[in-house]
This record gives sequence, structure tokens and C-alpha cells, in this order.
Amino acid sequence: MSSCAAVVPEKTEAEAAPVRLVSRPRLPEWLKVPLPSSSTFTRTRQLLGDLRLHTVCESARCPNQWECWSRATATFMIAGDRCTRACGFCAVDTAKPLALEEDEPRRVAEATRRLGLRHVVVTAVARDDLADGGADHFRRTIGAIRAENPGIVVEVLVPDFLDRDFALDLVLDAGPDVFNHNLETVRRLTPSVRHRATYDRSLAVLAKAKQRGNGRMSTKSGMMLGLGESDAEIRDSMADLRRSNVDILTLGQYLQPTPKHLPVVEFVVPARFEEYARLGREMGFVHVASGPLVRSSYHADEFHPPA
Ligand code: SF4
Repeated sequence: MSSCAAVVPEKTEAEAAPVRLVSRPRLPEWLKVPLPSSSTFTRTRQLLGDLRLHTVCESARCPNQWECWSRATATFMIAGDRCTRACGFCAVDTAKPLALEEDEPRRVAEATRRLGLRHVVVTAVARDDLADGGADHFRRTIGAIRAENPGIVVEVLVPDFLDRDFALDLVLDAGPDVFNHNLETVRRLTPSVRHRATYDRSLAVLAKAKQRGNGRMSTKSGMMLGLGESDAEIRDSMADLRRSNVDILTLGQYLQPTPKHLPVVEFVVPARFEEYARLGREMGFVHVASGPLVRSSYHADEFHPPA
């Protein structure tokens, strides 16, 4: 394993300069997670396997898998585990996708019930091969979850559907409580981080969702930090998200899933994440989750949508 080339400044954490990296880094202490030890983790894995469901927890190699699965929570990834895009940060496989599985919505609903979830997060691979980008599959999954789990909070984390209004409406008409679409990174870095997406298209999708969704639906977006963006660029993106009427913001540290993916440029110190949380609240976000291990769906149930 290569050694860490980080320069650790002799300052307090709050004053510290960014930890700039020039080779594959060793994780700083604040990003180390404990190994699983709970029987709930094993039961969650078993249940997901029995129902043949994919999760972004596994497919994206999320560092919180041990914690979340030990709390009997997971983020379902529908429409298969093969993505039509090849974003530079994402560990989900890029390949020709298989046909949609008709009974997947029912299986997600059953898993939601058996896990006892009161807040479920459903995401999907990007299905640019389908005319609706997989939107109808989202609609059917939301419906199945609601039918099986009355009163549940449903959050969807969707691709951009190439900004097709009819696809967006299919999802919105199913009435999700939280509509999440990630901006992922700042404007300048978007072409290298998500080369098949555009920064403005993501902002447009978020703004339209807020406009077209029912009045109670919250919108949400997130960004990964540590890809080489500047402080000013992060602040600009936060302002862009507010201008698109986004209610909830998540900020977390980017981690390189394999050596083939984009390198980590910087480990952002926890104090800076706290600073962005404060700034986000000042800017008018209703809820901000900001920390090194925060992911879109991490502790998603801590946000309670308006009744
Ligand atoms: S943060 Fe989200 S993706 Fe990661 S393990 Fe938890 S539920 Fe899964």
C-alpha cells in the first residue's frame, strides 16, 4: 500500500489548512469506521439477499454500511445494478442493463415492512436506455411501498432523467415525501466527475421538482467534498441550490472506491464541515447534514417532513 503523502499542519483542527494529497492516501482517523459486530447486520444482509434486492450501500461501497445495516436500514437501488453512465466517482458497474424486474417494487415494499422502516430511501441506476429513464419503475415502487407500509416517509434519490418533464411527473405524481437529486460537485468539476450530466440540468430538475411536486414535498441535494473544489466554489454551489429552492442539503467527504476512480484531492477536516452546516442553515436550508461520513441517505430519517 502506498504511504500517505499528506502534510499535517501543526494547528488546531479549526484553523487547519486543507490536507492536500498527492498519492493514494491512508484514511485520517475521522474517516475510520468500526467493523460489524451486530446480529442485526447479518439479519439485514440475509433479508436483502432472500428478496434479491440491490442496495447502493453495497454497490457504491458506502463506508457506513456496517452502521446502517446494524440499525436495520438500507437504501434500495432499483432498476438493476448496471448503470448506463460511468461517473468518475461511482463504484456502481457500468454495463448494458438487463430488463426491469416486474415484481421488484413488491419486493422493495416487503423488505421495507420486514425491516420496520418508517423512512425509506429508494434510488436507482441511471437508465438512459429507457424512454422514461426508469421513472415509471420509481412510480410503481413508491406505490407498492405505500400500499404495504401506510404512513411511511418515502424519499427518492433520482437520476436527472435527461430533464424530461414527463419522466419527472411520473415520479412526482406518486407523491414522494422527499425528492432528492444530487448535484455531486461544483460547476467547474462537473464535466470530469459526471461527464454525462450537466450542472445546470441538475439544478433545473431540482427547481422543477419543487415547482411541480405537491406543496408538502421537500427537495434535497448533496455534494461530495474533497475532489479539488475551492471553498468559494462550494459556497457558490450552495447558493445555486438555494436558488433552485432546495430544502435539504447533504455534504460528505468523497472517498475513492477503487484505484480506477477519481483520486481524493483533499480530506476536508470536520471543522469545515461544521462551518458549511452553519452556513447552510443561515442560507435557508431547512435541514443540513454535513460531515465527513455523511451520504445522501445517511440518517435520512432524522429529517421529518412537514405533516
Ligand atoms: S449511508 Fe445510505 S448508502 Fe450508506 S450504508 Fe447508510 S443507507 Fe446505505
